[in-house]
Amino acid sequence: MDHVSASRYRCDGCGNLTRFDVTISQQTKAFHHYSVGGDLVVEDEEVLARNVDAVVCRWCGHGRSVVAITGEELEEPGEGFQEHGEGFQEHGESSKVS
Ligand SMILES: [Zn+2]
Repeated sequence: MDHVSASRYRCDGCGNLTRFDVTISQQTKAFHHYSVGGDLVVEDEEVLARNVDAVVCRWCGHGRSVVAITGEELEEPGEGFQEHGEGFQEHGESSKVS
């Protein structure tokens, strides 16, 4: 349901990647469905506008060193994983089924 992709942040001051106070303003439109008794059910909520007002590092207590990071920067180079498909030599004994 949440199609607003969440941003990631990094604090260059302390290296924090996980703890931030994020202040967000958003304008939403929703179908307010009242029962005869006056109970409200909010349906079809839609985010019309969303603005991140402030991101504060919990450890530093301020947001001066906080930078937004993109998904690309987050991705690991992926070199730790090596496939053994090519150049793998089978030794007779290891593949024997007893
Ligand atoms: Zn920090």
